[in-house]
Amino acid sequence: MRRTVYEADHELFRASVREFIDRTLRPLDEDIRTERMLRREVWLEAGRQGFLGMQVPAEYGGQDAGDFRFNAVIGEELARVAAAYNSIVSIHVDVCAPYLLELATEEARKRWLPGFCTGELITAIGMTEPSGGSDLAALKTTAVRDGDSWVINGSKTFITNGGHADLVIVAAKTAPERGAKGITLFGVEAGTPGFTRGTKLDKVGQPEADTSELFFDNVRVPAAHQIGELDRGFVHMMERLPQERLSCAVANVAHARGVLEETVEYVKQRTAFGQPIGGFQHNKFLVAELITKLDVAQAFTDQCLAAHVGGELNTVDASKAKWWTSDAQNQIIDGCVQLFGGYGYMREYRVARAWMDARVTRIWAGSNEIMKEIIGRSAGL
Ligand SMILES: Cc1cc2nc3c(=O)[nH]c(=O)nc-3n(C[C@H](O)[C@H](O)[C@H](O)COP(=O)(O)OP(=O)(O)OC[C@H]3O[C@@H](n4cnc5c(N)ncnc54)[C@H](O)[C@@H]3O)c2cc1C
Repeated sequence: MRRTVYEADHELFRASVREFIDRTLRPLDEDIRTERMLRREVWLEAGRQGFLGMQVPAEYGGQDAGDFRFNAVIGEELARVAAAYNSIVSIHVDVCAPYLLELATEEARKRWLPGFCTGELITAIGMTEPSGGSDLAALKTTAVRDGDSWVINGSKTFITNGGHADLVIVAAKTAPERGAKGITLFGVEAGTPGFTRGTKLDKVGQPEADTSELFFDNVRVPAAHQIGELDRGFVHMMERLPQERLSCAVANVAHARGVLEETVEYVKQRTAFGQPIGGFQHNKFLVAELITKLDVAQAFTDQCLAAHVGGELNTVDASKAKWWTSDAQNQIIDGCVQLFGGYGYMREYRVARAWMDARVTRIWAGSNEIMKEIIGRSAGL
């Protein structure tokens, strides 16, 4: 189905993102999987190309594009190659950027945003803790005011880019007795005494991404590094989750599309009983179902993208897009694994890796159950 959400400028931009991926990322593919993180040289090249600061005003070194579709193009192209490439970059450009742009103090913006755009300052966001991620209001990390700074104690887990981030946005309780109404966000810089990280976590998929535990032991943060209003951190996070969930949806669909396209080619070439396996009616119908599922998911996601560009995407629709596309992606890639037969179960095949990579998308960014909770609540239940 022809997509109408993008214009000529976005397609031109897409060509430059593809060129960057082919030149900079693909040759390092295996190394990145082994090292379990994106090398700084890739970040810096992405920065030189202007990809990291699309939403950042020119005065801080960004491209000032003011149109989330450019971010969506980057996400689509990265996810087509490997889901984790999108996860790594989108945490920085789609998830962390709005906090820094909209909520950080001017002093902090001047300090962080130029490096954010060049790739010299990589960001991560720490909401989830060992004791829980879905129930954000119950987080246990604390921040206590002491003179002109805050002292943070606690820990975070499953943090994407956590092991090598130069700046982590940390959610902490500033008024523990007030639950969701007592959370504040802070920017914690690498190298701050008391801020340490665990080893990279051993995930079943997305090995390219560095996912780590973070520890805060009397970490002293200047008051100017408070992000947003005191005790309003929960609201700030909720207000920014629709963009994060849209970004997930965009990547879910693009990732599934990349794998499905490869699979369609494969079933045309692979033969059994003297004919291409794609010619068997069962397989033809399976491919037809997968293509349809993908196009339906794409249409809703594009509609959400257009709504977001128009400033109209709400939490409920973003939640629908997030859960639906992560489920659809898992179903589509599982179908592709079946069509690849035994090869579909071999790690050296992209389809097998994609199958493992996709699973987490039903868990993170607000699990699919939490998405349904939000949607159900909007129906008055
Ligand atoms: C690879 C990876 C990267 C991640 N990156 C980040 C990151 O960068 N920053 C960050 O802060 N977090 C990150 N996360 C954490 C992620 O957002 C959480 O794992 C997720 O929110 C779920 O929290 P939990 O793991 O504590 O599960 P729990 O909250 O313990 O939930 C366990 C199960 O119970 C279900 N459940 C919980 N509450 C309800 C309910 N009310 N109704 C129905 N079911 C419910 C959940 O859906 C889930 O199935 C990442 C996780 C992974 C795996």
